[in-house]
Amino acid sequence: MTVYNFSAGPAVLPKPVLEVAQKEMLDYRNSGMSVMELSHRSAEFDEIIKSAELRLRELMAIPDNYKVIFLQGGASLQFSMIPLNLAQKNKKAYYLVGGSWGKKAYTEAVKLAKTIDFQPELLASSEETVFNHIPTFDAKTIDKDAAYVHLTTNNTIEGTTIYDLPDTNGVPIVADMSSNILAVRYNVSDFGLIYAGAQKNIGPAGVTIVIVREDLLNDEPVLSSMLDYRIQADNDSLYNTPPTYGIYMARLVFDYVASLGGVDAMETKNIEKANLLYDFIDQSEFYSNPVSVKADRSICNIPFVTPTDELDKLFNKEALEQDFKNIKGHRSVGGMRASIYNAFPLAGVEALVAFMKAFEEKNK
Ligand code: PMP
Repeated sequence: MTVYNFSAGPAVLPKPVLEVAQKEMLDYRNSGMSVMELSHRSAEFDEIIKSAELRLRELMAIPDNYKVIFLQGGASLQFSMIPLNLAQKNKKAYYLVGGSWGKKAYTEAVKLAKTIDFQPELLASSEETVFNHIPTFDAKTIDKDAAYVHLTTNNTIEGTTIYDLPDTNGVPIVADMSSNILAVRYNVSDFGLIYAGAQKNIGPAGVTIVIVREDLLNDEPVLSSMLDYRIQADNDSLYNTPPTYGIYMARLVFDYVASLGGVDAMETKNIEKANLLYDFIDQSEFYSNPVSVKADRSICNIPFVTPTDELDKLFNKEALEQDFKNIKGHRSVGGMRASIYNAFPLAGVEALVAFMKAFEEKNK
């Protein structure tokens, strides 16, 4: 039986990519060793990291005045690195909180403001309605001199997305793009900084990508060299040993995405997959999607529920028996969630819809 992995991350990777990794596992291109054994200062790895960056630049059309850095610590470490680097000199920073991860970013900023001199401010939040839509705000309330406006482009847990970026009164947007990078087309020059953990659309956990406009790089050293964007950028992500194997896998994924037609092609495919599931949910009186504004629905993470908690539990149990893995909703919200990133196949969504139909018939 085919296993369909609906995990929100670490998530399914393209099989052709895994096959290349398998083929190159014991002897990477006649080097006599695996990528894991290559020195990060070797010619082979130099080619890997440079081509990974180049491919990402092509895929996202990253302008030349942006640096691309490969870091560790997950997207979560960026919650601290961003204020440390960008909000120097007693600056204000706004947070648009549309989901649990955005709230974590804001909470971390508040915590940091006790140590460094900056002022995080909650711009708007949809927490009161369990983050069931993207909150809005009036751009006039934003101080033009602020360091940044932080937002999450895709709320992984709640299944909402910002497709059209808000007016921020000229203040740079800093975006957590962890769960829809390379899945939805954005214009990089609309952002001051983009960051993403790799484990959803890019590769294995352990690599974090930061794309930052050069003029926003910190003027002064920050707390620690490892947390300093300028040091990381000046050293081409080789200040210390980078997550070499993860960067190699990311390069393979970038090549694969490019071979399929790039981000536009991914987005088209993702819309098709998401529509299949949303259309089914919308015509059903049994299932519902908790997002209150249809235009905010994510095409990457689709949460849904049955009429009762008991049925949700039963659904999760029976789905697992059918090898639909990791479809259980995040522990904070319950229900179900289908994460259907770039590498998730249309056939998997079709199989899920067939299963949902049969489950509804049996239990309605
Ligand atoms: N931001 C978003 C939008 C996420 O979905 C996640 C993880 N699921 C994180 C941040 C945290 O990422 P990490 O585990 O890489 O720190």
